[in-house]
Amino acid sequence: MEMTLLLNTTYEPLRVVNWKKAITLLCQDKVEVLEFYERDIRGVTITFKLPSVMRLLKVVKFRSTPRAVKFSRINIFTRDKYTCQYCWKKFRTEDLTFDHVVPIARGGKKTWENIATACWRCNNKKSGRTPAEAHMRLKKKPEKPRWNPTLTIMIGIRHAPNSWRDYLYWHMELDMDD
Ligand SMILES: [Zn+2]
Repeated sequence: MEMTLLLNTTYEPLRVVNWKKAITLLCQDKVEVLEFYERDIRGVTITFKLPSVMRLLKVVKFRSTPRAVKFSRINIFTRDKYTCQYCWKKFRTEDLTFDHVVPIARGGKKTWENIATACWRCNNKKSGRTPAEAHMRLKKKPEKPRWNPTLTIMIGIRHAPNSWRDYLYWHMELDMDD
């Protein structure tokens, strides 16, 4: 599904919206389009280019209910910035795994608070032990991420279209080396 990056009036990334929402905002004259996707969207009566980056023309209030960040592999790596939480080195996705801080066999749960990003080496070294038993310290206590638009955009960034990059570049730390 094609998504549109929505910037606020001062060109900062605000959120990512689906194409239907993008078209609605456009029809309401609330936005200007800065970039389009190459591909056309064919409607029943009209064909149009899908906006890839849009900027709000005035401040718009969005639904403020916080949404939970989905508990998934990619989101855990994003939370931990692709960094092993034991040796504090950065790795590529394929060289990372999860560590259950308190091992499942010892009653540990599959929750944000009990899962940390680890490299294979540290994960093997720690094995089925707790950090204290393995004499390995977590650099940071794992926490459940609170929803915020920037985090949501960061989570999607690995698959972000090229046309977004100029707009995201100045505002957040990117990790797009693969
Ligand atoms: Zn490590």
